[in-house]
Amino acid sequence: MECIKGKGVARGIVMGKLLFSQRDRTNISKQKVEIPKEEYERYHRAKEKAKSQLEVLYEKALKEVGESAAQIFVIHQTLLEDVEYESHVKQMILEQGYNAEYAVNATSELFQDMFRNLEDEYIKERFSDVEDISKRLLDILFETKTELSGEREPVIICGDDFAPSETIQMDKNKILAICTRQGSASSHTAILAKTMNLPAVVACGEALEKFYDGKVAIVDGYDGIIYIDPDEETVKQLRMKRDDALKRKIHLQDLKGKESVTKNGQKVWVCANVGGLNDISRVKENDGEGIGLFRSEVLYLESSDYPKEEEQFLCYKKILQEMGEKKVIIRTMDIGADKKIDYFHLEKEENPALGLRAIRLCLERPEIFKTQLRALYRASVYGKLGIMFPMITSVEEVQEIKEQIDRVQQELSEEHIQFDKGVELGIMIETPAAAMISDLLAEEVDFFSIGSNDLTQYALAVDRQNQKLERYCNPHHLGVLRMIEMVVINAHSRGKWAGICGELAGDLTLTEYFVRLQIDELSVVPSMILPLREKIRSL
Ligand code: PEP
Ligand code: MG
Repeated sequence: MECIKGKGVARGIVMGKLLFSQRDRTNISKQKVEIPKEEYERYHRAKEKAKSQLEVLYEKALKEVGESAAQIFVIHQTLLEDVEYESHVKQMILEQGYNAEYAVNATSELFQDMFRNLEDEYIKERFSDVEDISKRLLDILFETKTELSGEREPVIICGDDFAPSETIQMDKNKILAICTRQGSASSHTAILAKTMNLPAVVACGEALEKFYDGKVAIVDGYDGIIYIDPDEETVKQLRMKRDDALKRKIHLQDLKGKESVTKNGQKVWVCANVGGLNDISRVKENDGEGIGLFRSEVLYLESSDYPKEEEQFLCYKKILQEMGEKKVIIRTMDIGADKKIDYFHLEKEENPALGLRAIRLCLERPEIFKTQLRALYRASVYGKLGIMFPMITSVEEVQEIKEQIDRVQQELSEEHIQFDKGVELGIMIETPAAAMISDLLAEEVDFFSIGSNDLTQYALAVDRQNQKLERYCNPHHLGVLRMIEMVVINAHSRGKWAGICGELAGDLTLTEYFVRLQIDELSVVPSMILPLREKIRSL
């Protein structure tokens, strides 16, 4: 038996086979797929996406470096359409039944060799272009969910790290747990795993070797340990631990239907953080008192193009209907930083966490923002909607948002489309600037929701993604806690309510402190709702 120690970021104990992500290019696995036709369609979609990426690159190069340098992207587009390349890939997928990654890689190697063996020096060099387009195709293919398509049983997926877009696109029915070499507790991947109720162990380092691919392991998400080829005694111990956790879970069921209220009658709304419609059942199972944070960017991360107004409307409507009388706070999309999406064609940034992210992106691209606002307001008549905006730093931003909302409302009125004029509007307090001017911001909105993950990152100047900075990333830092206190006081002094939706909301060692601050709402991953209610009721 081997033990690998990492950081447990999402609780739970599971046993299963380890599957290493195919993204490690040095070892693209050769798999037979169940439905070659679907695999070929997946290849085709990747090809179309590669072509549109090349078009964007061509336009950009044309502007920045001129026609002749931009021609390379035209050559790459032509190569992508090469009949022989295409028919070789097609044959490997459709006739031989291989996975698209393997087919592209094998075809790429074959063609590179062919070019290298040519006499003509110029054409010979074209092997690097074949390599380039194949790499582009592979990058796109690796982002899609097929890593798991060959697997019949759910597996423990392992890799260096997974981007939020990759985590979202994983087929949840085929995953038991997520283990990564890198990653930090407050990374979006860890948060998404928690929301999806998947045990996760991050920051395992190089010990999580690809050599273990296919081996049976137990993942202990409580203590952050992976037991590879566990011996009988370990299996027994962990089974007991899992049973204890289960018993505790059953005991917590008694709290369903009860209020989250302290012994002296102070009420705290215990709501849920969710990423999509699939999470709603977990909110209900755990008796969430509402949704305090719906990360709407997940809708964008799951799509291969901008989600249309109608599609968004249907999604928001469904959530509101599902939650009935309970409040649903939808956060407008927080794209950017680590949440990158190809079709947004965002420019590469030196410091993405300090870049064009969240509300900034919405204000820079009002058409995208308007589509989301229209969908939200159209859905507002189906339940109790609140809308909040991420990454606010100034009063002017809030005023600009409100102007956009006015315009959207006006348009809807002109189109005779009903909407709820009383939708609560709030902002996330995630930047020190917002915390420091929360007295002024409170004049503009109905509520604050403190995003402690980003507030910690920006207050302490630590990249929340960087596992090596974990010891500096202390959300209990007095600098962070004082800001939270200031925000709550400022909200209350203007008659507004304040909640926390960052991970700190579920930190039971701080519940008493938050209750003393008279926090109005705490929004946590569904699995933390009942433990938090229990804690509040004990105070
Ligand atoms: C936060 O920053 O605390 C937050 C809730 O937003 P996210 O984690 O999605 O950035
Ligand atoms: Mg945030």
